[in-house]
Amino acid sequence: MADTAHLLAALDFAAHKHRGQRRKGTGDTPYVNHVIGVAHTLATVGGITDMVTLVAAVLHDTLEDTETTAAELEDRFGTDVCHLVQEVSDDKSLPKQERKRLQVEHGPHLSDRAKCLKLADKTCNVRDVIQSQPVGWSLERRMDYLDWTEKSAVGCRGVNAALEEHYDRVLRRGRETLETAT
Ligand code: ZN
Repeated sequence: MADTAHLLAALDFAAHKHRGQRRKGTGDTPYVNHVIGVAHTLATVGGITDMVTLVAAVLHDTLEDTETTAAELEDRFGTDVCHLVQEVSDDKSLPKQERKRLQVEHGPHLSDRAKCLKLADKTCNVRDVIQSQPVGWSLERRMDYLDWTEKSAVGCRGVNAALEEHYDRVLRRGRETLETAT
C-alpha cells in the first residue's frame, strides 16, 4: 500500500476504534485528536518520515484503550507497526502505579522508534494536562503527573534532539503555568 494510503488507513482505523471516547480534559475533546497530535509532533517537530513510526503513532493507544487485538494490527498494518504499538503499550492487567513505575524502568530498553513515540506522547499529554484540566484533578495531581512524565522521558533521550528540546520546553512552560496558578 502506498504510504499516504497506509497512513490514512491508520487514521480511519483509529478514528473508528476510539469513536465515542473522549480525552480526560474539560474540553470534551475526541480521543482521536490525541493520536493525531502525537503523529503530527513526530513529523513536524521530530522531522520523522519513517512510516512505521507515524502509522504506529496513530495506532499507539488502540491496544491499551480499545478492544483492538495485536493480530488485527498485524494483519492490517504489518508486523513492524504491530510490534511498535505493543512496545509502547502498558500491560493493562497490572495496577496503575505499577504500570507507571514500569514505564520509567523500561524507557532505556525501548527501540529508538519507541523512544521517539513515547516522547511525543508525553509532550502531548503534558500539554493536555496544562491546557485542559482533567476533571477532578487537583493542582498537586497535575504537578505530580508532570514530574512522572519527566522521569519516564529520561530513558527516551539520546535519539531525537528536536523532540527532546520540544518536550523540555512544553514541560517548563507547563510548570510555569501551574506555579502561577498556586
Ligand atoms: Zn497516548
